[in-house]
Amino acid sequence: MRPSDLDPLFASVSSLKGIGPRLERALARLTGREEREGARIVDLLLHVPHGLIDRTRMPLIRDLPSDGIVTVRATVARHLPPPPHNRRIPWRVEVSDGTGTLTLVFFHAWPDHIRKLLPEGEERFISGRIEWFGGRPQIAHQDHVVPAGDFEALPKLEPVYPLTAGISNRLLGGAVRQALERLPDLPEWLDPGYLERRRWPGFAEALRRLHAPRTPEDLDPDSSVRQRLAYDELLSNQLALALVRRHMRAVSGRPLAAPGRLRDRILDALPFSLTDSQTRAVEEIVADMARPERMLRLLQGDVGSGKTVVALLAMATAAETGAQAALMAPSDILARQHHATIAPLAARAGLNTVLLTGRDKGKARERILADIESGRADLVVGTHALFQEKVAFRDLALAVVDEQHRFGVHQRLALQAKGRHVDLLVMTATPIPRTLALTLYGDMDVTRLTGKPAGRRPVKTSVMPMERLDEVVEHLRVAVERGARAYWICPLVEESDRADIASAEERFAALARALPDRVGLVHGRMKGEARDAVMAEFREGRISVLVATTVVEVGVDVPEATIMIIEDAHRFGLAQLHQLRGRVGRGERPSACLLLYREPLTETARERLRIMRGTEDGFVIAEADLRLRGAGELLGARQSGMPRFRMADLALHGELLATARDDAELVMARDPELATPRGEALRRLLYLFERNEAIRLLAAG
Ligand code: ADP
Ligand code: MG
Repeated sequence: MRPSDLDPLFASVSSLKGIGPRLERALARLTGREEREGARIVDLLLHVPHGLIDRTRMPLIRDLPSDGIVTVRATVARHLPPPPHNRRIPWRVEVSDGTGTLTLVFFHAWPDHIRKLLPEGEERFISGRIEWFGGRPQIAHQDHVVPAGDFEALPKLEPVYPLTAGISNRLLGGAVRQALERLPDLPEWLDPGYLERRRWPGFAEALRRLHAPRTPEDLDPDSSVRQRLAYDELLSNQLALALVRRHMRAVSGRPLAAPGRLRDRILDALPFSLTDSQTRAVEEIVADMARPERMLRLLQGDVGSGKTVVALLAMATAAETGAQAALMAPSDILARQHHATIAPLAARAGLNTVLLTGRDKGKARERILADIESGRADLVVGTHALFQEKVAFRDLALAVVDEQHRFGVHQRLALQAKGRHVDLLVMTATPIPRTLALTLYGDMDVTRLTGKPAGRRPVKTSVMPMERLDEVVEHLRVAVERGARAYWICPLVEESDRADIASAEERFAALARALPDRVGLVHGRMKGEARDAVMAEFREGRISVLVATTVVEVGVDVPEATIMIIEDAHRFGLAQLHQLRGRVGRGERPSACLLLYREPLTETARERLRIMRGTEDGFVIAEADLRLRGAGELLGARQSGMPRFRMADLALHGELLATARDDAELVMARDPELATPRGEALRRLLYLFERNEAIRLLAAG
């Protein structure tokens, strides 16, 4: 049960003066809630301003900055009304302070209103965002236009919020001020010693200063106000993960210890020897499986670092104890590919592997299910179908989940809820910056595969404008004649799959004209069998160019492919570009990646392309991605299981995260039920930041 002192914070915003149902919906949209759920007081309080009107500093017009929100004191010089009947030209008003002239721009305004607001010859205080137009300053969106008397009454510092249609800053500011009055005094949940050392304000005080700053510095990301609130949010995240971790481990596992006879047979069958890093990873995983506690481990390794074989060796270990192991892949293509890799190797160790995807129907499916249930299948490879449907294992002991940054805490708990004492190994190729890994996988142990298997060649990356398309196609034609195999990734059109497919089909047709009989197409809407057939043709070299939407993004392994061409590369995120590029550079021959872009490029897009050209190091790329995009977007926000941070910016507050993690561990060690006074206070923190899984776990006891 939610402590009752939090109730005022969870009341609807419609309980505030001036907020009706329409605004309640708009505020829900603004604060990332579902419209039908509406927004609550707490959502307003956790809505962070992104700027500040500072009325303590009033620059002369001569000294106006190049951007930002300014307040200017000036005299109205003249009105420049638009020509009659032309509503598209705005009404402009020139004001001056003796050092220069500033133009105020009004779209769709009533003439009487403007004349009354700004009588010629009178002094006004004007604030708003400064813009420059043809070298002259103007303000098109005025926050305030007031005479001296009214100006004195305005707060000297006024936060500026991210807004949405139908909500002005003034309206939102008013609502937040009312919300602040509802803020109860809550017991302190931070360690008093730590709080004192950091000289941070209390939670309520920090919120007050966030929304009614005393100095402009209060809003800086490294101010004590912002740090306190960021820490609270990070602590709530780490505490929730620590609770999940404790819950998952409370269910005892079973020791899966095997001498490694089957592992050795597989190692003998491999056409290569393991890298040192792979050997260490296998040792770490095998040792963890042998322990009586459940294994909850993340195997993190860049694209092409060779995770599959590590997983196979872990699976063989489980099978050697007489139990079963399952590998879940995020797509059909990948499940098939894993099965193709794993089954023959496992067979060399006398293990039987089956494949189960959503595509298996009828009799065939029943046979597979029977094999899983009877235990005739030692290893099972499949898609989500494996865990979601009524698949009964005879004795599942190890579950491996591949390439799943979409496999969040929820899913981990769901797997747990099946009541099996299953060891869990999650493999991710997304190089996640340390800070993010902690917030996503803080409940797991981590094994890292560093470096790439020997013999990997660097991929030469170049960046080129679309205008040179003809040249690119000609080069590709020559390369294909010499036996090269290439991926051609089509632009992603976010609005609809249909448009994606149209553009891919168009590109396919054009390339097929240049290279008759050498080009194939795969996209997400294709039937599984058709897609498999094309993939197989590409793998076997019967076609040389594979045109694809991003279905090849994760995990596809065709070592002979040496060319990766990405069209409209500027529209892809860094992580995606990195994943795609990782499809080449897998064989003996040198590889190339070509990023095609279209002007105009945004600054960020330009920077992304520059980074891609500059490095192949997944972790460097991931850190850059975090900096450019922020954590929320990095992994595709909600579906990713990525917690949404409102107060904390991982690019800026990353170093607080490690402390929050230690803090959470200490709390778990001393007060796992959150029953001490500090524990009771921490429960409030979990409610405030809506760590619902954690709250449910606490309630379940
Ligand atoms: P990822 O970590 O991206 O899943 P994979 O497991 O698909 O990587 O491995 C990529 C390729 O590298 C595969 O063709 C695999 O057979 C090969 N490979 C894995 N380990 C080694 C190794 N130690 N030496 C040489 N090649 C290896
Ligand atoms: Mg893989």
